Amino acid sequence: RIVVVGSLNADLTIYCERLPLPGETVHGNGFAVNPGGKSANQAVAASRLGADVRLVGAVGDDSNGEMLLSSAAGAGVDVAHVRTASAETGVAVIAVDASGENNIIISAGANGTLSPADVAAAADVLDGAAVVTLCLEVSTETVLAAAQAGHDAGATVVLNLSPYAEIPQRLADLTDVLLVNAHEASQFLGSAEIPGSDADAGDWEAVRLRFAGRGLQRVLVTLGANGSVVLDSLAAPDQQLVQIAPVKVNAVDTTGAGDAFTGAVAARLAAGAALADAAAFASIAAALATTRKGTQAAYPDEDDVKRVLAA
Ligand code: ADP
Repeated sequence: RIVVVGSLNADLTIYCERLPLPGETVHGNGFAVNPGGKSANQAVAASRLGADVRLVGAVGDDSNGEMLLSSAAGAGVDVAHVRTASAETGVAVIAVDASGENNIIISAGANGTLSPADVAAAADVLDGAAVVTLCLEVSTETVLAAAQAGHDAGATVVLNLSPYAEIPQRLADLTDVLLVNAHEASQFLGSAEIPGSDADAGDWEAVRLRFAGRGLQRVLVTLGANGSVVLDSLAAPDQQLVQIAPVKVNAVDTTGAGDAFTGAVAARLAAGAALADAAAFASIAAALATTRKGTQAAYPDEDDVKRVLAA
């Protein structure tokens, strides 16, 4: 089973021609409230792909909380360990302009109350976990407690370093697989240049060594429409660097693509797949997620991915 410990947010999205400047008011041309939050998205993505997923988190006693619980449960996620807090449900207020550029403000709300005590209260599910999936939308001490519990249970600890924040070395040491986009990778490595799509293996080799130098042995770097790269210092020498070709799709909404990728990696690792195979599968799942509008509602199931694999 997969245990996802982290955030649930209501995404409040307003669409506009252009984003307002500070102090300016602009007219919008549409508004939507959707289930979101990195951890909830990752849990739904993994469950849609057939994994047994338990979500540990917190929501408020309000309509956004109800929406989030019903979306996750509707996708098959076990939400028994999502606590109802006295704070309001977390929200992300998102403005999207005509070119797809966005501005996002997140208010943690109930997510900010998630603590090591919640991790301890979920010991029954964490004990049987094959994979524990974490992100940085809840407090570092909570993430650290969950990583430790996953490690102690013999689970593979997957950390999505997003939204980027500095992490204690202890958390890096407890992480079995780090998942980052190019931006987060470069922030983690200290404003290093992350190779572009025309990079050769030597450029990536240098990046692999820098991650290893920071205590991260297995890293997946996602590159949007350019695919992804597996950096695995623990693999055989000819497998330490694997570049996953992009899956060509007609993308209409890339929101939550990274979460679809993370959830799919977790699902495949829990099913016993090797890291590079999990990444190849995830790149198809994430590409399919961009072909439909929305986040959780756009995530593919196992048959959708298998159809692409067979084509
Ligand atoms: P994030 O959403 O966290 O910024 P990326 O933009 O790197 O992360 O996207 C995550 C993954 O989603 C990519 O590695 C890729 O597999 C898939 N993806 C994203 N955008 C596209 C796209 N336009 N076409 C195909 N796949 C995409």
